[in-house]
Amino acid sequence: LSERVFELPDEAASLAFGERFANALRATRAGLHVHLLGDLGAGKTTLVRATLHALGHTGRVRSPTYTLVEPYRIVPREDDVNELEAPRVYDIYHFDLYRFADPAEWIEAGFREYFDGHALCLVEWPQKAGALIGAPDLSLSLDLAGEGRVLTARAYSARGKDCLDRC
Ligand code: ADP
Ligand code: MG
Repeated sequence: LSERVFELPDEAASLAFGERFANALRATRAGLHVHLLGDLGAGKTTLVRATLHALGHTGRVRSPTYTLVEPYRIVPREDDVNELEAPRVYDIYHFDLYRFADPAEWIEAGFREYFDGHALCLVEWPQKAGALIGAPDLSLSLDLAGEGRVLTARAYSARGKDCLDRC
């Protein structure tokens, strides 16, 4: 397990971290299960939005507050394409489980199938699924710090550590 702390004094710093995180994800070239922790308004969705845009998504990024999950499919940039191992497309699922009344909804919704080892799963409010969701590769925890935020990133797997080392 490894841990790193990042100071994000304003929204621009969060957007810049999203870019660094996106570059780390590109270099890691693997599916990753990421938990986003922090109160309402902590900046979880802001971070996901910055990451998706930096990965090449050009459209809107809506908060999945009501839909529970928003899927994205990103075509890698030409210079990211590695014949041997890079996927042709990058599937990303952005979850927000805030509205779950019961962890069993995780099973009922069939969300387990999204965690296939290839997709990037970014989950806000993973605690709402209880233990059913399993351990992430990486958790990004946001706390208020004055006008800004502090992000504590923790890796729980070799993949997660690899990504975190590149941030
Ligand atoms: P969450 O998804 O955690 O509920 P949002 O990302 O929707 O939070 O909203 C966070 C709010 O905080 C937004 O108004 C955003 O502009 C602001 N914000 C995000 N990151 C920072 C930061 N590093 N410093 C200050 N304000 C931030
Ligand atoms: Mg949110």
